[in-house]
Amino acid sequence: MARTEDDSWDITEGVGATALGVAWARSQEASSECPLFTDTYAQRFIDAAIARGWQLPPAHMEQRIRAISNYAASRTKWFDDFFVAAGAHGIEQAVILAAGLDARAWRLPWRDDSVVFEIDQPKVLSFKAETLASDQPAARYVAVPIDLRQDWPKALRDSGFDPQEPTASAAEGLLPYLPAEGQDLLFERIHELSAAGSRVAVESFGAEFFDPEYLARRREQLRQMREAAGADDTETPDIADLWFIEDRTDVADWLMDHGWRVSSEEAGTLMERYGRPPSAATEDATPRTVFVEGA
Ligand code: SAM
Repeated sequence: MARTEDDSWDITEGVGATALGVAWARSQEASSECPLFTDTYAQRFIDAAIARGWQLPPAHMEQRIRAISNYAASRTKWFDDFFVAAGAHGIEQAVILAAGLDARAWRLPWRDDSVVFEIDQPKVLSFKAETLASDQPAARYVAVPIDLRQDWPKALRDSGFDPQEPTASAAEGLLPYLPAEGQDLLFERIHELSAAGSRVAVESFGAEFFDPEYLARRREQLRQMREAAGADDTETPDIADLWFIEDRTDVADWLMDHGWRVSSEEAGTLMERYGRPPSAATEDATPRTVFVEGA
C-alpha cells in the first residue's frame, strides 16, 4: 500500500494494522514464562479485530513476528519504565503520540490526578474505545483523534492539555511512518508544548536504520521466508512499504541542540539489559533503533 500525504486508515488496514501487530506481540509476552510486563488488554484487541474479520498473520509471518518478540517486549518495558519514572518525578500529564493499542492508561500505576492524552487516527482510537468501553482507565484518559501531520497541538489544547504543566511525551513505533519533514515538525511541536521539567521518550530510527544495504537485506530475508512458505506478496505485505524512507534529523542531536539533557541506548544493549537477546538471526530481530530520553 503506497503512502500518500493525507492517507488515513482503520485498525485493520495498512498503518493501522501495525498497531495490531504490536498488540499481538504484547499478548504473546503476557503469556510467556517470565513476562517483562503484563498487558491483559492486548489479547482483547486481537479478539475484537478478529471479530471484525481481521486475520492473524500467516504462519511464516508469525515466525517473523516471534523473531522480533524480544525487541517488542523490551521496547514496551522501556516506555513503561519511562512513564513510571516520570510519575516518580512528579509529572502528572502524559501525551502518547500514535498510541495505537497501547493500554498504558489502563495498566500503569499512574499518580493520582494524572491525565493521559492519546493521539492517533480517529478510526484507530474509536476501535480502542469500543473494545475497552467497559474498562476503567487508571488515570483520567483523553482521546485526541487526529492525524499527526495535522494541527495536533491545537487539538490537544482544545482537549484540555495544559502547556504550563510538565509533560511526559512518548513516540513509540511512530517515526518511520512520518515523512522526514513531518518528524522535524513533530519535535518542534513537542518542544513548544514542553514546560520546564518535561520529559520525552523516543524510539528513534536514524541513518543506520534507513541504510539501503540493511533495508535490502531485510527485504531479501522476507522474500526468502515468503518463498519457503509458498506465500505470495499480497498475503504478506512488508511494513517497510508503509515507511517514508528518507534521510532524517538525528533525534538525540536535535534534542541536545534544543537544550534537552539526553540519554540514549541502542536496541541491542537494551535487550541485553532486560535479559532478552534476539531470538532469531533476522535483521528485524534487533532493529537498528536507538531509545532516546530527553529531560
Ligand atoms: N505506539 C503504539 C505501540 O507501540 O503499540 C502503536 C505503534 S503502531 C506500529 C503505529 C501507530 O502509529 C498506529 O497506531 C498508527 O495509526 C499510528 N500513526 C502512524 N502515523 C500516524 C499519523 N500520521 N497520525 C496519527 N497516527 C499515526
